[in-house]
Amino acid sequence: SAHGPSSSQSKRPHVNGSGPSTPHSAKFKAVQEQRAQLPIAKGREALIEEIRKNDVTILLGETGSGKTTQVPQYILESGLARNGMIAVTQPRKVAATSLAQRVAVEQNVSLGDLVGYAVRFDEKSSTETRIKYLTDGMIVRELMSDPLLSHYSVVIVDEAHERTLRTDLLIANLKTIQAKRNPKSDAKGKGNADASNPLKIVIMSATLDAEKFSRFYHNAKILYVKGRQHPVKIYHSAESQLDYTDAAMRTFFQIHTDQPPGDVLIFLPGQEDIESLQKSIELYARQLPRDKPEVLTCTMFAAQEHSQNNKAFAPTPPNTRKCILATNIAETSITIPGIKYVIDTGKCKEKQYLARTAGGGFDTLLTRDITKSSAMQRAGRAGREGAGVCFRLYTEDAFNNMAVAGEPEILRCSLTASILNLKCLGQNLEELDLMDKPDLETISSALKTLWLLGAIDNNQKLTAAGRQMALFPLEPQYACAVVASKEYGCTSEVLDIVSILSASSKLFVDISDQRDAVTETRRKFKHSSGDHLTVLNAVRAYREIAAAENKHARREWCRKHFLNERTFLEARDIREQLVVTCTKIGIDVNASAKDNDEPVIRSLGHGLAGNSALLQPDGTYKQTMGQTIVKVHPGSTLADKKVPAIIYDDLMYTNQIYARGVSAIPKSFFLTHALLNQKKA
Ligand code: ADP
Ligand code: MG
Repeated sequence: SAHGPSSSQSKRPHVNGSGPSTPHSAKFKAVQEQRAQLPIAKGREALIEEIRKNDVTILLGETGSGKTTQVPQYILESGLARNGMIAVTQPRKVAATSLAQRVAVEQNVSLGDLVGYAVRFDEKSSTETRIKYLTDGMIVRELMSDPLLSHYSVVIVDEAHERTLRTDLLIANLKTIQAKRNPKSDAKGKGNADASNPLKIVIMSATLDAEKFSRFYHNAKILYVKGRQHPVKIYHSAESQLDYTDAAMRTFFQIHTDQPPGDVLIFLPGQEDIESLQKSIELYARQLPRDKPEVLTCTMFAAQEHSQNNKAFAPTPPNTRKCILATNIAETSITIPGIKYVIDTGKCKEKQYLARTAGGGFDTLLTRDITKSSAMQRAGRAGREGAGVCFRLYTEDAFNNMAVAGEPEILRCSLTASILNLKCLGQNLEELDLMDKPDLETISSALKTLWLLGAIDNNQKLTAAGRQMALFPLEPQYACAVVASKEYGCTSEVLDIVSILSASSKLFVDISDQRDAVTETRRKFKHSSGDHLTVLNAVRAYREIAAAENKHARREWCRKHFLNERTFLEARDIREQLVVTCTKIGIDVNASAKDNDEPVIRSLGHGLAGNSALLQPDGTYKQTMGQTIVKVHPGSTLADKKVPAIIYDDLMYTNQIYARGVSAIPKSFFLTHALLNQKKA
């Protein structure tokens, strides 16, 4: 059948277990039937024909219509990508991995063979891989080793409407790459594919504002897939809700007691809210009368391993109501079947791929109101399989006052890492053909940071040290610290610290109702120089436990010490990758300062040179690189102690400006640090 898997692909027999099922198993048949029923299946032939004819195709369609999972398979099965791989880019790591897994099931192969993925700190692909799901950040990094992306015949830019910084950089680069790879004369003919290695671009989006993409790509053709949207009844709350998790919980149990069967999807801003609401719901559900259906909760957020995410896709057991707690990942990237009710808190986290530090992208203070377009997407999730209901935990006025759509990330984000990566490609951001150009002030502040790190010289030319920093999948500040640690002979310690700070969740769990107990247990790890070496102490303690104890004891130890074990595990993987990069450029990863703290602080000081402040007579700190007065965050180990000079991971803006991830540093150090970095360069 047209929707079956192509027989020409390398499909080796597999043993059973969690791997693929035999081609004619019931499970395989069911999956193929599901594929054939997706809205996009009807347009398959027409779609392939358009992609064959055009260099650039823009595809719009309702969430859940089958764009992300089907289009790459159609292209593969049509033979359109004979010369290379098909890349499918995603703004989020968790979407890339779980979609790859789903498509591997549909193709009946093991993940990493025909279908693979690549995200920061994690890759599953092989020489056999033909469809590769990857984050937009990963493909931008691939440009460094393969400037024409010659491994790919087709690049599908998915979720383009999100306009992440990396997606924008990719879109700009694809345009120039295509100009080079696709011969201009009769480029539309079918025959030219064998002569050279032309590139096809497919831009996919769930929202309908595609004109801008089309104009950017020389008026590229726009195609629409009609989705199956059933009516969704929307209720707004009568007054604004101060505590949205509490409001969400009450709304959920109202639905559970009053409304007919159907699963519930709750949109929350981040992991912490998700986990706390999950606990409350489970606790309360246990007290319900026995005749009520069971409540089954599952969660979905960026930092969660995909085995956990998969639970949301499993069929809901009989006499049970499933309650899925998710971030905006469930808005357009991932469609969960069976949803009849949506509870929308109206909040999301400001995405900060670049400014991600100790607090992670999950800091509550980065929570903001969603846009109208998000609110509409969220409501739409309730109407995928039948009429649904959406409960908005905000007033109709609040909805009317929401911004129509978000601003592209490139206009509101630090550009330091991107400018560094572009420099490695010999590109200047100012000269790129971008859909939206950032203002010069943001660019010059990024250049200033790169100069301070010694990554560029006085003429804005990339230095040897800068080239090394760019090899690390880290914030340039931390990459700089790793590079600097070579000289100080403490790479082992710096890697320990930097991998924790680069993980997607915080190490220290905040449990506000047990604050005293938390403070008491944390005292064990507390280091007098501040938060960075406190992190190191925790890592060392965990390593000892991990060597001596079993999995269960380890988990228990973390729980008792209010430490997030997931952060340790993720940091371990991150560290492994950093070790590979260090080894490649001749940095001895075993070099250790033993119990001498100063070299570690100095290495970090090289990286955090721009994040430093000096003590003022009035007891506050004033930035060395600016005029801003900062306070040490109350959660810091240095909160109650005055030291002459500090470095910090980041600033948090509330009614005050707080520095987080703070360490004391000798004042003499950074009066000369910039010169130090530049001299090395
Ligand atoms: P789009 O990109 O247009 O939003 P997708 O291709 O992501 O659509 O999804 C198509 C369908 O595949 C959805 O209806 C979804 O329910 C289903 N699907 C996606 N991932 C999984 C999974 N892991 N398990 C089961 N079904 C899935
Ligand atoms: Mg999609």
